[in-house]
Amino acid sequence: MTEFQRICLVHYHEIGLKGHNRSTFEMRLLKNLEALLSDFDVVTIHRISGRLCVFLREGTDWETEKRCADFIRKVPGVARVSSGYKCERDLAQMEQAALAAMADVDDFTSFKVQARRNHTDFEVGSMDMNRIIGAALCEAHPEKQVQMKNPDVVVGVEVVQNAAYVYARSVRGVGGLPVGSSGKVACLLSSGIDSPVATWRMARRGAVCIGVHFSGRPQTSDTSEYLVDDIAHVLERTGCIGRVYVVPFGDYQREISLTVPPQLRVIMYRRLMFKVAQEIAHREGAKALVTGESLGQVASQTLDNIRCTDAAVDMPVFRPLIGTDKLEIIDMAQQVGTFEISSQDAPDCCTLFMPRNPETHAQLEDVLEAESALPVDQWVSELADAAEPHDYKCPGYKKKKPR
Ligand code: ATP
Ligand code: MG
Repeated sequence: MTEFQRICLVHYHEIGLKGHNRSTFEMRLLKNLEALLSDFDVVTIHRISGRLCVFLREGTDWETEKRCADFIRKVPGVARVSSGYKCERDLAQMEQAALAAMADVDDFTSFKVQARRNHTDFEVGSMDMNRIIGAALCEAHPEKQVQMKNPDVVVGVEVVQNAAYVYARSVRGVGGLPVGSSGKVACLLSSGIDSPVATWRMARRGAVCIGVHFSGRPQTSDTSEYLVDDIAHVLERTGCIGRVYVVPFGDYQREISLTVPPQLRVIMYRRLMFKVAQEIAHREGAKALVTGESLGQVASQTLDNIRCTDAAVDMPVFRPLIGTDKLEIIDMAQQVGTFEISSQDAPDCCTLFMPRNPETHAQLEDVLEAESALPVDQWVSELADAAEPHDYKCPGYKKKKPR
């Protein structure tokens, strides 16, 4: 039997809707995949008629192909990935390729063929292709049933320009937009469960994410920094995060805890965090802040307290998890792959110097008054200067030189 070249066909619907911007989006996804797939034997990636086609090196086996497809499906912007073969625009070849694609997929009973041709210059219409290729598959596999409605497997046959692409296994992708197509955001990244998920969600909407992590160092150990680094390495696999700034925050928290009334301390820490994150965002050219807050989850996440922290900055603050439940967030963290790391304990800078009864309905006037006694502007530039950048692989991110 002829050896056909293995391919992964990458489908994207949302990108397809972007009119004139479409080719920019396609190129962004193509560049992201090129960089992220460096561990796979990819020969090249081409745009073909509303899809990207990843060509795998000759001799690639099915297990590797599957691993590659399962990797691609997690990359933002990918709606679906189909595994199959490229062959000539010739019905006999297409039948052989369809047989090979079907042989790769085990454990199914029903199927149908779904053919499409991009140009009418291929003399056989799609209905006829369905019939002819379907008949060949039936003949080779009398034990399988043709089923038009909800078959286990759809054998896709696409004739595009000078070639045909044939596939059987097709898996859903994470969807969204390619990272790098929606600008840049600065994400307040703790080593907890929520903020990595919030970061991932913004990346899935096409934003390049920069993490800002506040460590309790030197007042606590640096465990949280290692956890955040592990989290960033998980997000990096799909190109979601370009850099994490680690801010040694412990001394400043200590200072706040010595001067600010206990119930306002948490708000004060958080306002300072927001201001420092905003300063880092300005230096990075990021246009919004992102947090993992969910309404009412803890004392600092009441409406009144959210208002008080928002008022510390003039950038938009996005909270992609605001309306989600903890269990939903845990599910997402498991899918993203950060849950286990986030479940480890680390002395968090927020638990350090935590008052016994934090305010749940802070009044902005009280907060501003307490804050006026502190040299906040000076602290913000000191902390932003002291922030330590850690870089990750993110094809959509152009590195800023640290000052
Ligand atoms: P998470 O699981 O993300 O830590 P949480 O449930 O612990 O969230 P909080 O501690 O109130 O909630 O934090 C709310 C948000 O503030 C976090 O989602 C994160 O965006 C930000 N944040 C909290 N602590 C830190 C930190 N040490 N460094 C950076 N950002 C932080
Ligand atoms: Mg936390």
